[in-house]
Amino acid sequence: MSRFFSEKYNELTPYVPGEQPQNRKYIKLNTNESPFPPSEKAVKKAEEELRRLQLYPDPECGDLCRALAGVYGIKPEQTAFGNGSDEILNLAFMAFCDEQHPAVFPDITYGFYPVYAQLNRIPYEEIPLEPDLSVDVSRYIGIGRTVFLANPNAPTGIALPVSEIERIVKSNPDNVVVVDEAYVDFGGESSVGLIDRYDNLLVIQTFSKSRSMAGMRLGMAIGSEELIQDINTLRFSTNPYNINRIGLAAGVGALEDEEYTRMNIRATMETRAWTSEQLKKLGFQMTDSSANFIFARSDRIGGEELYLKLKERGILIRHFTIDRIKDYNRITIGLKSEMEALIENIREILEEII
Ligand code: PMP
Repeated sequence: MSRFFSEKYNELTPYVPGEQPQNRKYIKLNTNESPFPPSEKAVKKAEEELRRLQLYPDPECGDLCRALAGVYGIKPEQTAFGNGSDEILNLAFMAFCDEQHPAVFPDITYGFYPVYAQLNRIPYEEIPLEPDLSVDVSRYIGIGRTVFLANPNAPTGIALPVSEIERIVKSNPDNVVVVDEAYVDFGGESSVGLIDRYDNLLVIQTFSKSRSMAGMRLGMAIGSEELIQDINTLRFSTNPYNINRIGLAAGVGALEDEEYTRMNIRATMETRAWTSEQLKKLGFQMTDSSANFIFARSDRIGGEELYLKLKERGILIRHFTIDRIKDYNRITIGLKSEMEALIENIREILEEII
């Protein structure tokens, strides 16, 4: 730290992204990327856009908002785009939280929420997950704080039905409820259908998972026109050109190819079922995941040991050091062949330690 770094960041612990090693080729099952390439339509539009990079992008993201609105059956004014949903999350913390509106989220959830709260000096409370790692909805009813819920939750993959989200939204009419649906396409239920009824619901989604565009950095906020205006006020006060021309074009292309997205989602869900079945046979226990990852533990091997042994063998999975979940690993669903390699390697590792 330099002697010039503002004291207001004394307490800040930055988010630690999953490993992105550049030194060796791993089977990468640690950061919930899609194993499939982006849609050809997205690639083609992005390539065309390369020839127009002398021009700034459209700060309103007009074509992209209209394309998203068309696919989701909402108004373009009900959408705003961020440089990844991470940026939208930060804008939501900035826009809807302060001393009078502290944030609340589960103790085990997306690790960026406490970082954004600290960054923006927002008081926050963490509500413990139940012993089975599910969210106890009753604890959020009428809580009177800005609620952040990942649905499905990360890293557990456990999803809440929309009816439960609606109970939370309805019971907190004077607070914004932010539902982070990064993984919703893999079997969860989206709350987008509620946005016309509740002016306090902000849904956040991403192109990073089901649409295979993590490298593009494209996420979106979906909510009432007023909430979206607030997000845009802050977006235009920080970085109005947050989505570059290539992102805008590729996003439209991806939305023109929903059939391709659906095909990849089906494949991921089938491979998830297969992988869970194999892990069960090897004695693992798992949460009921509606995401493109599974969260697994075994009495036969510790979480960290399995993670390290797989890494030695060229397979990366995600291990968290948080005490309550240190026995678990989060394993992204890759290609079927990658999951076959994973299962084979786990089998060998378990045989070695007996
Ligand atoms: N929300 C959750 C729950 C996540 O796990 C992630 C990252 N994987 C994000 C949001 C951010 O995704 P992105 O910035 O790539 O859209």
